[in-house]
Amino acid sequence: MTSITERCLFCRIASGEIPAKVVFQDTLTVAFEDINPQAPTHLVLIPRRHISSLDEMTENDAEAVGGVLFRATEIARARHLNDEGYRLVINQGEAAGQTVFHIHVHLLAGRNFVWPPG
Ligand code: AMP
Ligand code: ZN
Repeated sequence: MTSITERCLFCRIASGEIPAKVVFQDTLTVAFEDINPQAPTHLVLIPRRHISSLDEMTENDAEAVGGVLFRATEIARARHLNDEGYRLVINQGEAAGQTVFHIHVHLLAGRNFVWPPG
């Protein structure tokens, strides 16, 4: 019997088992280039801890997920993405476009984004 973390793509990226272009990591967070970028800058930020989705979050996960959001803002500032603006996206569930069930924040920048989103 394999555990969820052994099967989960993003857990395997976090552990280094599957290669990714990692741009930042610390004890709580890993950030890497999206394999199918939707903007000139498209990073995926994940908590190291396996949380399937926003809907699965508990209060116990708040620090891990909050840490991911904070790192996104730091990376954006370090890359001067805040000058023009950037977008953070978390897709919850299949109808919203979630395909990988390990919670993640998309950091998108480098082009204009429309509102409302598609
Ligand atoms: P979502 O559709 O919100 O679940 O986002 C999943 C994202 O993960 C998509 O933007 C994919 O392009 C990206 N992705 C899937 N596999 C990989 C991978 N091996 N390395 C980097 N990004 C990936
Ligand atoms: Zn996972």
